[in-house]
Amino acid sequence: MFKNNGKKTAISIASTACLCLLLVVLVVQHHRFGLTGANARQETVESAVDDNNKKGFSAYITKLSRGRREAHKPSRASDSKRDPAPAEDITADDIFIAVKTTKKFHQSRLNLLLDTWISRNMQQTYVFTDGEDEELKKKIGSHAINTNCSAAHSRQALSCKMAVEYDKFIESGKKWFCHVDDDNYVNVRTLVKHLSQYTHTQDMYIGKPSLDRPIEATERLGDNKMKPVNFWFATGGAGFCVSRGLALKMSPWASGGHFMNTAEKIRLPDDCTIGYIIESVLSVPLTRSNLFHSHLENLQQVSRPDIYKQITLSYGMFENKSNIINLKGVFSVEEDPSRFKSVHCLLYPDTPWCPPQVAF
Ligand code: UDP
Ligand code: MN
Repeated sequence: MFKNNGKKTAISIASTACLCLLLVVLVVQHHRFGLTGANARQETVESAVDDNNKKGFSAYITKLSRGRREAHKPSRASDSKRDPAPAEDITADDIFIAVKTTKKFHQSRLNLLLDTWISRNMQQTYVFTDGEDEELKKKIGSHAINTNCSAAHSRQALSCKMAVEYDKFIESGKKWFCHVDDDNYVNVRTLVKHLSQYTHTQDMYIGKPSLDRPIEATERLGDNKMKPVNFWFATGGAGFCVSRGLALKMSPWASGGHFMNTAEKIRLPDDCTIGYIIESVLSVPLTRSNLFHSHLENLQQVSRPDIYKQITLSYGMFENKSNIINLKGVFSVEEDPSRFKSVHCLLYPDTPWCPPQVAF
C-alpha cells in the first residue's frame, strides 16, 4: 500500500515536472519568435554572446530555438534568384518613356535608339526635341514632340524640355513617368519588372545619383532672401522614374510654367530640379537603383552576365576617355562603338539585322 502510494506520488511528480518543462519550452519559444525588428536582432546578438556562459537547460533551449530559426531561413542562393512578388501587375503600356534629344543629335544618336530599343517599344516612347524633322515624323509620327524650346545646352533650355515631358506624361494618363537621355539604352522588360515591385499610387522616385553626397543648393525666396537646401537627385543621364501618384503631387511646382520658375529658384539643371521638388519640397526620398547607368560612371564595371538585367545603359566620355560597357557582342567595337547594337541582339536575337547567333 505504502509502496503503491509512493509510486503514484513519484509518477505524479514526474508528470507535473514534464508539464512544467513543456510550459517553459513553450513560453521561451513564444517569446523568441514573437520578437521583431531591432529587438529580434538584439536578441540574436545577445543569445550568441550568452551561449558560452549559459549552462544546461537554458543553453539547450537557446540552441533548440536557434536551430528552428535557421531551418526557417531561406538560403542565400535561392533568395537572390527569387524575384520579388509584383506589387502591381503592369505592362510596358503603363510606362511613359521620355527621351530627351536635340536636333543636332537626331542622326548621330537618336537613329541608333530608333533602330534598337525604341523599335520594340514604339507605343510607350516619346521623343522630346527642339526642331522639326520630317524623317523623324515619318518614323514615329506624333511620338516626336517638338518642344519649341531653345536648342542650346543651357539650364533654361533643358528645363524647358523637362517641363514639356512632365505635362505630356500627365496628359497621357500612364502609371509611370521615366526620363532618359538620347545616349541611353532602355531594357523595357527589366524596367517593367522593376517598377512592378511598387504601385503607381505610391510616392516613388527611382534612379541613381551621380554624386556621393546630397547636392548643396541655395533656394531663392522672395524679398532677396536665400535659404540653403541639400537634397539627393537621380542623374538624368542614367534615367529615372516617377510614379503617377508622386507626379501628381509635384504639379504645383512642375506643371505648366511652374517647372521653369522652380528651376530658376534654385538655378540648377532639369534633373536637379526634379530632385529638389521631390526630396526638398515634398520630402519623398530617392529610391536608389544600381540598374540605371550613365556614362559618368565606369561602364566597364557592368559585367557581361549582368548586362541583360540592367534597366539602362549608356556610352560616351568619362574623365576624357571613351566609356562603354565591356561586351564581346555580335558586332565589333568599330561596327558598334556604343555597344547598343550588340546589346540589342543579345536581348532580341530575332531582330532581322542581328547575325544568327551560334549557341556553344
Ligand atoms: N541636349 C540637349 N540640348 C543640347 C545638348 C544636349 O537637349 O544642346 C541633350 C542631349 O540630347 C542629351 C542630354 O541633353 O539627351 C545630355 O547631353 P550630353 O549627353 O551631350 O551631355 P552630358 O550631360 O551627358 O555630358
Ligand atoms: Mn550624355
